[in-house]
Amino acid sequence: MLISIKRLLQSSALQAPKCYRLSIRQLSDKAAGAGGGGGAPIRDVDLQTFPPEKIRNFSIVAHVDHGKSTLADRILELSGAIDKSMLNKQVLDKLQVERERGITVKAQTVSVLYTYQGEQYILNLIDTPGHVDFSYEVTRSLRACQGVLLLVDANQGVQAQTVSNFYLAFANNLEIIPVINKIDLPNADPERVKEQLYSLFEIDPEKVQSISAKLGTGVSSLLDTVVKEIPPPPTKSREETLQLFLFDSWFDRYKGAVNMVQVHQGVLTQKSQIVSCKTNKEYNIKNMGILSPEQIEVPALYPGQVGYITCNMKTAKEAVIGDTFYLKDNPMPPLLEIEPCKPMLFAGIYPLNPADHKDLRSAIEKLCLNDNSVSVSEESSPALGHGWRLGFLGFLHMEVFSQRLEQEYDAETVVTAPSVPYQLVIKGDKMIKQLGKIKTVSNPGEWLEKNFVEEYREPTVIGTIITPVEYLSSIMELCNEKRGEQISIVNIDQTRLNMQYKFPLNEVATEFFDELKSVSSGYASFDYEDAGYVQSDLVKISILLNGKPMEELSCICHASKAQQKGRHLVSRLKEELPRQQFAIAIQAAVGSTSKILARENLAALRKDVTAKCYGGDISRKMKLLRFQAEGKKRMKSFGNIQISKDTFVNILSNKKR
Ligand code: GDP
Ligand code: MG
Repeated sequence: MLISIKRLLQSSALQAPKCYRLSIRQLSDKAAGAGGGGGAPIRDVDLQTFPPEKIRNFSIVAHVDHGKSTLADRILELSGAIDKSMLNKQVLDKLQVERERGITVKAQTVSVLYTYQGEQYILNLIDTPGHVDFSYEVTRSLRACQGVLLLVDANQGVQAQTVSNFYLAFANNLEIIPVINKIDLPNADPERVKEQLYSLFEIDPEKVQSISAKLGTGVSSLLDTVVKEIPPPPTKSREETLQLFLFDSWFDRYKGAVNMVQVHQGVLTQKSQIVSCKTNKEYNIKNMGILSPEQIEVPALYPGQVGYITCNMKTAKEAVIGDTFYLKDNPMPPLLEIEPCKPMLFAGIYPLNPADHKDLRSAIEKLCLNDNSVSVSEESSPALGHGWRLGFLGFLHMEVFSQRLEQEYDAETVVTAPSVPYQLVIKGDKMIKQLGKIKTVSNPGEWLEKNFVEEYREPTVIGTIITPVEYLSSIMELCNEKRGEQISIVNIDQTRLNMQYKFPLNEVATEFFDELKSVSSGYASFDYEDAGYVQSDLVKISILLNGKPMEELSCICHASKAQQKGRHLVSRLKEELPRQQFAIAIQAAVGSTSKILARENLAALRKDVTAKCYGGDISRKMKLLRFQAEGKKRMKSFGNIQISKDTFVNILSNKKR
């Protein structure tokens, strides 16, 4: 499928994501003919003599729930990698959280053998996650591929992630095979989806394949197309000196860091001593093999082949995605560069019980080995004790991470309110010397007031929303409320629109997705990509209890929203704080200034000191009450307000009661 990129970018008002281009594409194998099949197990193949021209590397990409993992099941069955069974449901989604939530979180590579026109081909396929939070998994997966299967649900049509995945594949110069899935559904409308694909991406309707991943219809002919259309990897000879690159890594309790690699040239054997271009560290191979989907040990991997290796890597952090390895004493330049992923959302994680601090540390360390995209630093809070500030790719990523901590490591945690990373442009030579010109702050506790700051900046994103026309006005209203700036609105067909907005990240990072679903009865979809920092009028809201600031409850927001946010926090606190012997003034203020945004009073718990006075003189009762009032005054000025950890948990935690 060839489309001129210029024409394509002109034809739709969309922007292609900022991506690197992959290596030169080779000519595709144009052999045409009858359908193929599988059956032979890949373990019987002689990798040493297997020609690299018969290897195909591709990813399955699509919007959430359009059927990627189900298609992977059928491909595994068809190729004989797993037995055909009605019980095969998303077999590559191995994590408990993936099975419970029905989503893919981690991209999975699998190698299968497929026979086309009597010839055997190795297909290395990568099943990817669809949700925007895990788009880094897609980005890095695509670097190991020459093509993608772009799946679209025949009933739902093109959605926001379909658009971003298309451009990601396009910018990586990959062969795109458009596929309409779920044609078995009674209300499937493949013709309408073809129209959408044409109007958005100028995809020729003739090129679109129709399948049912559930029933297996059309899957075999789809694999024939994979063999015909997707070029083999651009490898060099096995005679050359070894060069391989790493495109995925995870942590295995028993084996340590397991790395997925693709050999570009030369031969990787069990005896190879390899060196990393990034870290210059040397490694000895311990195990190597291919995934199909179980691990099959092999003695060597040849150009174009994809497999796993384990070596003496202490931590998975040593495994840098995109790193190139060469043979010791034979240095080679890096093959490609993959930009490390950037955390978009930060939150504090604390043990529910401070005694569990050590266990939680080890759980976080282990889980981070599995998930390279999380950034970790230590922090502490007077109310919650010692904990960590973790950086995530988005809200779902944060939820999945804390769920995995609970499920896989039995860790009970308090997760504080998330914050995006802001930039502070510092002024004053002394301060600049101390902090640098630009300070990134993702914890409101580190915020600096205006006298030290020339300018505040907040991160922004370009959001893509795809929606049926009838929700246009309510979505526009929501976007305005979120400080969105409209970039474009274009028709995809008579019934659907593609809207692009520029948003401040903090407005869309948490609840926006749910709000969008609720104003569009669940029909609108949303995806975003990083659009850099812009100057912004930001303030810190501090919460004061009887004039004393409670740092854990402070937050950063845009000046125009400070009042609303302050009121909300104050009223939540009034609900949550237990009444005490004296009255408490709960206030929200801008920064450390005296500008009070909102105030609530929590009345004192009145102890009936006159309860024991039966009858008698009124002056005696008055005296008792006067004593009580004086006592309370003393308490108010000297006493510390006791806030239980539960109150913090309830206010800060994302888990609503
Ligand atoms: P993914 O998020 O893209 O990996 O989607 P899944 O493979 O997890 O599938 C999402 C849902 O769609 C599951 O309930 C599947 O059973 C269902 N599904 C996938 N393919 C088909 C299909 O061809 N027909 C029908 N009717 N349902 C399908
Ligand atoms: Mg999936």
